[in-house]
Amino acid sequence: MDKHRYDEMGLLVVKEDYCCEHFEPDDSVLVPMKECWCCKWSNFRAEIKNPASESYSVCNYVGNAKEAVNR
Ligand code: SF4
Repeated sequence: MDKHRYDEMGLLVVKEDYCCEHFEPDDSVLVPMKECWCCKWSNFRAEIKNPASESYSVCNYVGNAKEAVNR
């Protein structure tokens, strides 16, 4: 991910295998790898209802939101 993308809410769009320095493992992941998919700030596990975008999700970490970046 060279250029960051944001959704309509200004949240960072992340790929499964992306990772950043704010990574924190999700408690529901048995073997947390340092990837957004395993991070508690992503929506991957909550968004399985939308198979068209299964390899993308958003990061809920406030420090990664568009407003914080542009401040
Ligand atoms: S979900 Fe967000 S906070 Fe977690 S590793 Fe990915 S970009 Fe970083």
